Amino acid sequence: MPSGAAARVINKMITAVASGKGGTGKTTVAVNLALSLGKAQLLDCDVEEPNAHLFLKPEFHRKRPVEVLIPLINEDLCDRCGRCSEFCQYNALAVTGKLVMFFPELCHSCRGCMLVCPKDAITEGKRTTGVVEYGVREGIQFIHGILNVGEAMASPVIAEVKKDMNKEGDVLIDVPPGTSCAVIEAVKGVDYCILVTEPTPFGLNDLKLAVDMLKEMRVPHGVVVNRAGIGDRGIYEYCEKENIRILMDIPHDEKIARLYSNGIPFVEKMPEYKKRFRKMFEGIREDVGR
Ligand code: SF4
Ligand code: SF4
Repeated sequence: MPSGAAARVINKMITAVASGKGGTGKTTVAVNLALSLGKAQLLDCDVEEPNAHLFLKPEFHRKRPVEVLIPLINEDLCDRCGRCSEFCQYNALAVTGKLVMFFPELCHSCRGCMLVCPKDAITEGKRTTGVVEYGVREGIQFIHGILNVGEAMASPVIAEVKKDMNKEGDVLIDVPPGTSCAVIEAVKGVDYCILVTEPTPFGLNDLKLAVDMLKEMRVPHGVVVNRAGIGDRGIYEYCEKENIRILMDIPHDEKIARLYSNGIPFVEKMPEYKKRFRKMFEGIREDVGR
């Protein structure tokens, strides 16, 4: 901390847990961190493949559908002028001499076609693209979204999960892997992002892409190295050069791997890690307060 600068006390922090690619242990870190903190809200925004619940095992008590807006065409009013399809930059509408075709998976619910239609032939309809489910385990509130099979757009489901974010306490967000629009939707508005990576050349390549994205979004970030001990030192050298804090090493450990494959968060059987996760989190809280 620079001399004379006082750290603010941050009581509530929104922390994303992300990774440049799938399979690096992002969900493992999110779930084990939630269990170590004991009192937090965990949002699984990896809506195409949510699996935090498999490890946390919450009791689900409520669910609600995610609906998106779609255009409904009144063929009686429509004169097939084609303005709606010309306007739609997502190619969700095509006008032939006889009808207007609508491709729901391509629609981004922008309402533009409704505004440009000179015959007022388009009204608002709704379509269900996923579901949000609510659960609880001990002091942890859990919410996840599930995108319906075949749907292309994860962002509306992620936005619905984040709508019910706790405003009083700490929130952890399990982010989809990669650097897509869905990742940006999940990371938007967070105070900090933990990047989980493996110490291999592939891990380094994906980490660099994720760091570039976070810099662009101006989100403070640090790195958890999972399966530390395999691979090489490339991640450590990169982080040192870029002045990115290594928050924690989780070693390549047969016991952790066995617990993972049995769906058991490793802090449950290795409680010494709870302290390490809590210490890491308090370090992040101090950094965010500066
Ligand atoms: S803009 Fe309206 S009137 Fe023209 S083709 Fe589309 S729905 Fe029909
Ligand atoms: S709402 Fe927007 S994205 Fe959807 S069909 Fe109309 S113009 Fe295209």
